[in-house]
Amino acid sequence: MRKFVIMGVQGSGKGTQSELLCRDLDLVHISVGDIFRWNVQNHTKLGAQVRRTMTAGELVSDDLVESVVRERLDNHDWNFGFIIDGFPRNGRQAEFFMERYDIDGVIHLELPDDEVRRRVLSRRLCPNCGMDYNLIADRPEVEGRCDICGHELITRADDTPEALNSRLRDYHEKTRPVLELFARKEFIHDIDACASADEVQQSIRETLGLPAYKPAST
Ligand code: AMP
Repeated sequence: MRKFVIMGVQGSGKGTQSELLCRDLDLVHISVGDIFRWNVQNHTKLGAQVRRTMTAGELVSDDLVESVVRERLDNHDWNFGFIIDGFPRNGRQAEFFMERYDIDGVIHLELPDDEVRRRVLSRRLCPNCGMDYNLIADRPEVEGRCDICGHELITRADDTPEALNSRLRDYHEKTRPVLELFARKEFIHDIDACASADEVQQSIRETLGLPAYKPAST
């Protein structure tokens, strides 16, 4: 059983790196942001509670986030382990988490703010099938259309310069205490996230002593 937390600013590749780990190691990827986005898109009661906060790039209340995480982990559908992404985001959430769950390590993806801005503001998403694009590195074949299902691509409501600034500020102010708490238990593995997705994945595998990564193209 392997249990990891992945941390990093928006656009640092947490989602991509988590998916690559899950694919090979049979882990379950738990993204709190994805759970909220699903609820917003499907107009659930939870979606209505978080929609405005998310659009402004602000953090949802700790009580609500903690109950979502508890409920998700209580499903116990993670026989081989999990990787949790987007949580914990502040000191209180980290304490809640460490009191209840043992983890094997924290993968901390490091990326300078300028590169975050460059990546996030060029991000596009297919609201129909969930495929991610990036106008710098991973453009769709037909401009504005999903390669998989042809649906029109959108920009995430919180990928605006204003919301991004708010999220970056929150990240730097509130996430530092989380890193300090995890560092006391020597859980942190700092990874340079400027490299390509395959190279970052290779570094993660080496640092954590996990089975070597074979990129899909080799
Ligand atoms: P993400 O996809 O991780 O960037 O999350 C998208 C949005 O969901 C954030 O901007 C917050 O509004 C909300 N959110 C996700 N995770 C958390 C968390 N751990 N604490 C508070 N709000 C969160």
